[in-house]
Amino acid sequence: MKQSSPYHRRQFMFSGMALVVMELILCLTISACRNDKSSEPDVNAAPTKQVQQRPQPPEQVKQIDDLSVWSHPRSEERLAERKEMVRIIRDRYGLINVKVLEAMQNVPRHWFVTEREQNWSYSDMPLPIGHGQTISQPFIVAYMTSLLELNNNSKVLEVGTGSGYQAAVLTELTPKVFTIEIIEPLARSAAARLKEHGYDTIKVKRADGFWGWKEHAPFDAIIVTAAADHIPPPLIEQLKASGKMCIPVGGVFRIQNLMLIGKDSDGKVTSKSLMPVRFVPLTRNDEK
Ligand code: SAH
Repeated sequence: MKQSSPYHRRQFMFSGMALVVMELILCLTISACRNDKSSEPDVNAAPTKQVQQRPQPPEQVKQIDDLSVWSHPRSEERLAERKEMVRIIRDRYGLINVKVLEAMQNVPRHWFVTEREQNWSYSDMPLPIGHGQTISQPFIVAYMTSLLELNNNSKVLEVGTGSGYQAAVLTELTPKVFTIEIIEPLARSAAARLKEHGYDTIKVKRADGFWGWKEHAPFDAIIVTAAADHIPPPLIEQLKASGKMCIPVGGVFRIQNLMLIGKDSDGKVTSKSLMPVRFVPLTRNDEK
């Protein structure tokens, strides 16, 4: 057998050490990449794609000025299904906003789903709620909520109450929730349902949400849950400086885009297209 010379042994030792050092550098680089949460969100993701979210900065939340307490109805009913729904939102789509995930876990979606659709209450899909309308897919509810960056002092307007579910999710984060529904029976049943389950602070109004809710404006955040063919100017007006609006834009038979509208501190409006979506249309009537 060939004996290795001290030179070869040293060379062998050095190359072994070099390999270990390289491996170490590689591991550190990979873990640094994994921990690099500063990457830009994937704004053109399809709903099935992972949503990269920036970690939330530590919150500097002002005290609630006019409502010191607000009700958060809780129920253990179907909690395991709710946890599974949240797991899907987190693991399949990559939505990691803890406060929003908690809100989704806390609101019993089955309270807002019709008798016929009860079995599907926690499936990741939209469901019919009557009058040709739907309760949105849970992931979309969570994603839109996360875009609004609410704290417990935010005043938020929802256009398109539907079942009242999205409003209930919003009120996990703030007591100042105002929601408008154009279809009278839906507005009435959502208001009754919210009251029945103890959501005392949500204000529901039957009206055309195109015009916003002037008496309570300006809003820190506006969420529109029906697709508009253009962004309603009154909603932009009623958005506070530094506010955020999330709205699907596009016709019924055309591709709709989920848009995030921002207003900076000088009142300059910016818009960003986030992902293709499909919502029921924002309908209009003549009343303000
Ligand atoms: N956010 C609801 C689902 C919304 S479905 C939920 O969580 O259940 C869209 C709703 O928008 C429908 O109920 C529809 O009637 C309503 N809508 C459509 N056009 C509207 C308008 N101009 N103003 C207010 N509501 C409107």
